[in-house]
Amino acid sequence: MGPIRLRGVRKAYEDGRRRHEVLAGVDLDVAAGELVALLGPSGAGKSTLLNVIAGIDSADSGTVEVAGRELGALGERERTLLRRRSIGFVFQFFNLVPTLTVLENVLLPLELTRGRGHGAAARAEALALLDRVGLPERGDSLPEELSGGEQQRVAIARAVAHHPLLVLADEPTGNLDSVTGERVLDLLTTLAAERGTTMLIATHAPEIVARAHRVVTLRDGVIAHAADGDRGTGGGTGSDAAP
Ligand code: ADP
Repeated sequence: MGPIRLRGVRKAYEDGRRRHEVLAGVDLDVAAGELVALLGPSGAGKSTLLNVIAGIDSADSGTVEVAGRELGALGERERTLLRRRSIGFVFQFFNLVPTLTVLENVLLPLELTRGRGHGAAARAEALALLDRVGLPERGDSLPEELSGGEQQRVAIARAVAHHPLLVLADEPTGNLDSVTGERVLDLLTTLAAERGTTMLIATHAPEIVARAHRVVTLRDGVIAHAADGDRGTGGGTGSDAAP
């Protein structure tokens, strides 16, 4: 019972009169503590797949299990609770709440999963995390006062604050220069490794591919090719080798 188990997952969008099947029978297992890079050209359905795993979007058919629970068998409320408790997100454009301070942003998942009764402890944890991501003095700042790289470091602290089983990241370095992206990636993978957090990262970045335990590629709506991260670093996505 891994953190993620997908079988025959299909998802189509109506595009005018045409039906566009973005996910056409995706099978995927991700084991506990695994770091998996999800590759595929733009428009291949990587974001759609992450959203289906998060229960934000629903599959048309097939089964999606997260933390051993089948999402299709859960009600909306249960799905929301499972998502809050078990998943952390990192987005390309950081997605911090602009009207909340940095500290309040990091506190959000803690408050959502634990309620209000843990104020002082949650605050101490959030401050410790801001320290870990190199922003000990920025708790009272607003997101707009931070650089892109700093905002993404806050987003990483927020993603792991409630010790989720699983972190889903959608192009987390896509909007950062390569040096900043490397730093952010270091933090994300270090924090995840320390906590045994499972990670699925949609990306084009070779640095992420190089660090991944496993690389999977979404092409024509299915997982086309799986290879070890070490073997996948040099070749790009041109290989059509059969599994
Ligand atoms: P990727 O993340 O790999 O770039 P996406 O999952 O964002 O791919 O998109 C895959 C395809 O699904 C694209 O053709 C996109 O236009 C389409 N798509 C995604 N979300 C929607 C939606 N809500 N409505 C209609 N089409 C969508």
